[in-house]
Amino acid sequence: MEELLERLLEECRPYAQQGRVADYIPELSKARPDTLGVYVIGSDGKHSWAGDCRQPFTLQSIVKPILLLQALLDNGVEGVQSRVGMEATGKPFDAINASDQSLDSGHINPMVNMGAIVMCSLIHGDSYAERFQRLLELTRRLAGDGEVGVDEAVYRSEKSHGSKNRALAYLLKSYGLLEGDVEEVLDCYFRACSIQVDCRSLAHIGAVLSNRGRLPVSNQRIFPSGLARYVNAILMTCGMYDGSGEFAIRVGVPAKSGVSGDIMAVVPTRMGIGIYSPALDGKGNSIAGIQLLERLSKELFLSIF
Ligand code: GLU
Repeated sequence: MEELLERLLEECRPYAQQGRVADYIPELSKARPDTLGVYVIGSDGKHSWAGDCRQPFTLQSIVKPILLLQALLDNGVEGVQSRVGMEATGKPFDAINASDQSLDSGHINPMVNMGAIVMCSLIHGDSYAERFQRLLELTRRLAGDGEVGVDEAVYRSEKSHGSKNRALAYLLKSYGLLEGDVEEVLDCYFRACSIQVDCRSLAHIGAVLSNRGRLPVSNQRIFPSGLARYVNAILMTCGMYDGSGEFAIRVGVPAKSGVSGDIMAVVPTRMGIGIYSPALDGKGNSIAGIQLLERLSKELFLSIF
């Protein structure tokens, strides 16, 4: 496996030159575009990796499936579905994805910003601090790393360049679709996006989802299998922004990407994969990362279709 990963990594590295590092959040623009790392954790517990796989970066949108899981654990399926829908928007992650007439909870997708902001408000806890701490604890368990924390510089940068997200949150509030203090909910969202991980943590999150809610090796259950099916289905239909359809054809596994250039892929019953390469394509997905996943999928027959 390691030889295969090394070979694919060298084949895909040049693609990074065709992409652009996200710069709408100034702190993200500091990433080195030529970085490329991949980490795989198999259902047998075997770890394999290549490249810059211990380079830290922030979760960004990959926190959305974790927020969804936390929301489902705290509110149940019906509780979540009364606030956040299931259908792909086919629009960019920060789009105001409905016209004035049709803004209702059924149009809010959990893998775009509006849905993520609503899900921040669904986390249970007596105080804002407790609610964020619970999300962080779930992230640590999923990542298999008790040290996972927030990158404060990225958090400050997100918060001071978050006008679009503020607009989305206040719009939701004005429609009665967002409970609680808007600034507090937004702060939770900015912090959540700024949780720092590496390719190993992403592969571990993917491995738990691929193992339907059980930790690799110990097989300890950390959430019900029905919730893994829920999250994986949402990842399959809308995890890769408005490039999810093409990704389903080219790669064919549930996955989520983030604007830091990270991708977390779930190969049900087989493996979790974490990739980092910050140069993005026009839709916000890591350009070398998708190339690498496409090749890996072909070599190992990973597509579920
Ligand atoms: N922090 C980012 C934002 O809301 C997350 C976007 C993403 O990774 O898609 O602008």
